Amino acid sequence: MLDMIIKGARIVTPSGVGEWDLGLQGEKIVAVTLPGILPDEGARIIDATGKIVVPGGIEPHAHAAANVQPGARQLVQGTPNAGPIDHSLGAIWGGTTTVIDFAPVPNEGDLAQGIHDFIAPWLGNAYTDYSTHCIYRNSNTPDAISRYKELIDAGFPSVKIFTTDIRPPEGRVHSLTPIGRIDSGRLEDVMTQIARHGGVLAVHGEDDELLMYNYLLAQQRGHWDWYNVHMIHSKAVEDLAFRTVVRLAQRTGVGLYFVHVTASDGLDVISEARSLGMPVYGEVLTLALSFNCENYKEEDGMKYHTYPSLKYEDDRQHLWQGLLKNDLSFTATDSSFTTYLDKIAGRNVVDVRGGNIGIEIRMGVNYTEAVVKQGMSLERYADVTSTNAAKLLGLYPRKGAIMVGSDADIAIIDPSAKKNLSMDDLHVRDYSPWEGWEVEGWPTTVLLRGKVMVDNGQLLGSPNDGQLIPRKIDPAVLQRPAF
Ligand SMILES: [Zn+2]
Repeated sequence: MLDMIIKGARIVTPSGVGEWDLGLQGEKIVAVTLPGILPDEGARIIDATGKIVVPGGIEPHAHAAANVQPGARQLVQGTPNAGPIDHSLGAIWGGTTTVIDFAPVPNEGDLAQGIHDFIAPWLGNAYTDYSTHCIYRNSNTPDAISRYKELIDAGFPSVKIFTTDIRPPEGRVHSLTPIGRIDSGRLEDVMTQIARHGGVLAVHGEDDELLMYNYLLAQQRGHWDWYNVHMIHSKAVEDLAFRTVVRLAQRTGVGLYFVHVTASDGLDVISEARSLGMPVYGEVLTLALSFNCENYKEEDGMKYHTYPSLKYEDDRQHLWQGLLKNDLSFTATDSSFTTYLDKIAGRNVVDVRGGNIGIEIRMGVNYTEAVVKQGMSLERYADVTSTNAAKLLGLYPRKGAIMVGSDADIAIIDPSAKKNLSMDDLHVRDYSPWEGWEVEGWPTTVLLRGKVMVDNGQLLGSPNDGQLIPRKIDPAVLQRPAF
């Protein structure tokens, strides 16, 4: 007997889009059939006529647990950072059902336990399912790097590294816990381990030496206001770091995932590597598809910032081309937020706060901007909001697909929902860079493993519903650009 049937919608599956019925049992999708043939006795019927059913979004890039660790950076007292409960609440309202966080790898003891301890704030605070990338940095010993297999065996196959400290040392006094660059020696060692055991390397790629000199130049030339940050986190900074990392990846055979590509230069590096058959994938932030560095000049232009900075309009156009074609594989948020007051408190190039509040709007704004305005296919939309991230990060086919056997993680989009986004439409914190944006199409019903979490403006889920999901990457994804 089926627990639930979703009828009348266009269903976006890996084998095409069609007007089918969807049968759910427990936490799983058990049937995708022609309309009207599923036995409906005892089943709850969701009439989704005129709507579009897509796999629940995968947010591959959120900094949630770090924000609630002792010593987490905060500029204005009394404006608490957003932890897992705020991230997952925004996510579930916006149609995203799985969130991937970040946790630093310890040097001693049980490494996997160290990761579990760091993401413990998710327990009981998860409206979505979740997992975490593991961060290696310069404070890690060669011994901790050689023990990487323990992490992959524990279901955490993706590693994140930063090629830069992002801000000058004096600006990092209150930095978030896990940020810290990795040197080339450790990087090669980490890559070798990951390639050997079947993981993937997520890279924040900015050339540290070029970047830090740019800070010095900005200081000397009086370019110290926040709206100059793109001259420091420049196109050349991305170009150089991406090329170095790709070169080392070529030597070690590791699969790469460049997080938040911001410049046409970084995109070019990815395209070249992919054309050589290298397993290199790129992520783009909805932020970088929506705004450019001109927006920094607005009075509260700090709200558009996350690291690396936004670049120019030409870069924004190139990023769209990369996503519409195939060189960028999925969208993300770089979710990390606090209140508006705190976000705009940093007014110079060292203090300006990173992190973005877009986790709730990602699915809806991507639908409007990509599908409605630029004619992206519904299949490609599902790929770039869910499926591709699920594949690269080892969640597929449990997550990221409307398919028999997959978790019933589902976003039902109402394509007729038109509105100017106001804060009344949003559910976390007190500002959004997208306030006032016109949207057409919005997730109105959201299911997590078969449970209706959000339905027509009502929150029905609880923060105990989300679970930690163990991950394992299909080796085929790491042999060539598989998507
Ligand atoms: Zn980030």
